[in-house]
Amino acid sequence: MNVHLLRSPELNKETYLNVLYLLQQFNGPIRFIACEDDVIEFDNETEIRTWNDKKEFERSYNLREMKKPSPKFSLFEIPEIKFPYKEKKKTWDQLFLECDKYRNSKSIPQDDFVVLLTDVGNDINWFGGVSESMKNYFVQTSNWGHFFGYSIDIRFPIAYEVIIWVMRFYMFSDRESIWEGVHKKAIGCIMDFCEDKSQIILKMRTADVCESCMNNIMERDIPTLYSRQFFEIIEGIRRSMTFRGRSELLQQPSRLEIRGYLNKIFFTDLGGLELRLNPKEKAIYLLFLNHPDGIQISHLTDYEKELTTLYSSLTNQTEPEVITRAVKTLVNPLENDINVVLSRINRKIKDAVGDLLSDYYCILGERGEKKKIRLDREMIVRKDLKIK
Ligand SMILES: [Zn+2]
Repeated sequence: MNVHLLRSPELNKETYLNVLYLLQQFNGPIRFIACEDDVIEFDNETEIRTWNDKKEFERSYNLREMKKPSPKFSLFEIPEIKFPYKEKKKTWDQLFLECDKYRNSKSIPQDDFVVLLTDVGNDINWFGGVSESMKNYFVQTSNWGHFFGYSIDIRFPIAYEVIIWVMRFYMFSDRESIWEGVHKKAIGCIMDFCEDKSQIILKMRTADVCESCMNNIMERDIPTLYSRQFFEIIEGIRRSMTFRGRSELLQQPSRLEIRGYLNKIFFTDLGGLELRLNPKEKAIYLLFLNHPDGIQISHLTDYEKELTTLYSSLTNQTEPEVITRAVKTLVNPLENDINVVLSRINRKIKDAVGDLLSDYYCILGERGEKKKIRLDREMIVRKDLKIK
């Protein structure tokens, strides 16, 4: 079973990739496939609606209430939701039309799933939805901070919604049966409907399946490999989310895994979130990881050779002269290059793990003092590493 994840233009690329990688980590017959284009061609026609208060906003509306007209307003963007809140929205049909456009342009096999990930809201304010054909889906990627707090790693609830919808395909024969089958009253089951959308927190934290849903899964004769993959993903997401909450509270960092010849860096306990650094940033980061005692920036020239080896192994650049020049600029105390690179690395770390945990991973130190990465090196797992 192939599940194509589409990225609509307004969705942040990092978030999109993080959701994709999170889902791809779990092996099984369901394969999550990246959008062939960087973003899909997206029809700009949206309406703007206003949520007057929190209560109105936190409600998923009845499936039968679809197509209710709503007033138009202009959009303004705010980081934290304050009411009245204006939101771009499309109808479900418009969202599924985007899926069909992609299907046609890429000749996607009929049986494959297409899941549109989009920041745009939908007419009945669901977290996600399914087309009548049961082959097209959307999951809303915005507003999660409102429910989970603004420090949450939103790829968890997004990935969770994706897998829940895929699972509903297997558990129910059509869209009406989904509507009949989901629990209108939240009981902490993964099939809770969450009319009150804030109840999704309960659903995700328990990641539990109630007896009646379990019977449904068994009756529907879902192949074991499929149901196993579902449960592994749901449990994996729950574990990572819980780890993140707890690690911030107890100040316990995640392990760091360095994998493959490209030395990809992952936060193992945070759902395998990747720290995506460019070759120059990665060379610097690996250098600092190799020196737990720290390095004084003015002494970087002493590490020129090591840095050159690291950088040559990571860059696409094959001209030795170009590599040498880049490294020379980097280690030259009179250039500002290193400071720019360091602050970019630290920014990416903060974006990935949040302010509270970033101290363990950032390259930090007082001006003129040694700079170092604080993480206990026992927390580092290296896999098929070419360079030490
Ligand atoms: Zn249930």
